[in-house]
This record gives sequence, C-alpha cells and structure tokens, in this order.
Amino acid sequence: MLYMSDKEQPKQNQEDYELLLAEAYKKIKPVESKIDRFETPKVEGHLEGTKTIITNFKQICSYIRRDQDHVLKYLLKELATPGVMKGDRLVLTRTISSKLINEKIALYVQDYVICKECKKPDTEITRDDRLTFLHCLACGAKKPITKI
Ligand SMILES: [Zn+2]
Repeated sequence: MLYMSDKEQPKQNQEDYELLLAEAYKKIKPVESKIDRFETPKVEGHLEGTKTIITNFKQICSYIRRDQDHVLKYLLKELATPGVMKGDRLVLTRTISSKLINEKIALYVQDYVICKECKKPDTEITRDDRLTFLHCLACGAKKPITKI
C-alpha cells in the first residue's frame, strides 16, 4: 500500500500543476483576447415609410464610450442625411441600408475610438484650444484627430 501511494504522489502533483495552469490561462485569456473581442454592436432598426429608424444607437454609443452627439454628427455627415434623436431612437430622413450604417460606425470606431499605436479601444477624446486628440489610456499615445 505504501508503495502504491508513493507511486501515485508524482501523478497527483502533475494533475495539480495542470489544473493550476488551466486556472491561470482562464485568468489570462480575457485580457489577451480583449482586442479581438472589441466588436461594435450592429445597428438594429427598421424602415418607416421613407425614414430609417435605429433603435439601439444609444447602446452602441455607450458601448464604444463616445458622446452620442459626436457619433451622430459624424454619422449624419458621412451619410449626408439629416437625422434626429427621438427619445431612444435615431430617425434618419431617408431609407438607408443597415449595412451602410454599420460601415460608417466601423469607420468612426477606427478613427475615433481605436488607438493607432496599440490598437486598443481604451481611449478618450481630449481637446485643447485648437486641436482634438485621441488619448489612449492603455499606452499613453496622443494623436490629433479630425474635428467632425
Ligand atoms: Zn494605445
């Protein structure tokens, strides 16, 4: 019996080690894949006559942590379409495919959210007298961005 137990001991340690390793990976993984997982939510909505209604515009802005007015200004300019917020809904005054709106929001994220240096989304927009910057909270990079 004693012999058996001695022989089992290293195996037990090996298992513990692998368990610990698995636990460690579990803890590391979310951080590693954070960039890949930053996927802007797709717009949801429908058409009402000649208008396009987007129902999750607020959620998208809060997910990408940008001021709703800033995103809206960009989007309306890019789409060359007037639009207004009515409560939680964004109303665009012509019919626009969700594909095109998603593309424009993706461009916004690329230019006004993702850090050009480290590609992380942990950024904020700061302003001085003349310029607007994208300031990265992850790597500290500060890049001028185009005023919308
Ligand atoms: Zn950065």
